[in-house]
Amino acid sequence: MQDRNYTMVQAGLFEKLLSVTEAPSKGKLFLKEPLGLTSMEVSLNQLPPGGEVPFYHKHKENEELYVFIRGQGQVQVDSDILEVTEGSSVRIAPQGVRTLRNTSETEDLCFIVIQAKEHSLTQWVMTDGIILEEPVKW
Ligand code: ZN
Repeated sequence: MQDRNYTMVQAGLFEKLLSVTEAPSKGKLFLKEPLGLTSMEVSLNQLPPGGEVPFYHKHKENEELYVFIRGQGQVQVDSDILEVTEGSSVRIAPQGVRTLRNTSETEDLCFIVIQAKEHSLTQWVMTDGIILEEPVKW
């Protein structure tokens, strides 16, 4: 029985993900299990200079959001090629055939991937959030 309303993981620096993860997910740290997430899968990713995902994939039900936080790369979706860098966000529908690569010769490509069931979000931000009256104390 969980007695707290939160879970937390300290994954460390993105540039160390390759050294703290193992094949077949080397460079990729999944958060669903350690955090007990129930509505999404999230991974933290480090792809080294020149690195690439060596296969295409798609999904059955989940859309994916790729949020790039460092480096330079390309995302390929259904043969379209998107240039991505820090600040780029790419949403891919389940049936989109995708892969990605790091196009830098010197810098890691670091990104977060969030996947959740397409069309499952029914409330967000102002319709789901409830602002409480009690003053904030630290
Ligand atoms: Zn995927």
